[in-house]
Amino acid sequence: MYRNVMEEIVEELLNEVFETNPNVCRDCPSCRIDITAHALNRLPPKYVVHEKGRALTRIDLRDPQIRTDILSVLAQSITVINQNRWCEKAKK
Ligand SMILES: [Zn+2]
Repeated sequence: MYRNVMEEIVEELLNEVFETNPNVCRDCPSCRIDITAHALNRLPPKYVVHEKGRALTRIDLRDPQIRTDILSVLAQSITVINQNRWCEKAKK
């Protein structure tokens, strides 16, 4: 088995960004998925082998550079999705 741990990292950091960004369409599954997909298309995938008894290699989020890079992509994705959103909240 293998999987892209960048997906988990983006979701984790997105929670932080949502907390500090009042303009985001929060608690909206549709916008959340749009933002996540938009950001993942702009970040390098990070595949790891996922097996029982084998430690996962994780991207070190304590590295300020990695963290800053991902957060800046997320901020761009939020802006783009906010401007082009078609969810129920935007229609009102
Ligand atoms: Zn929304």
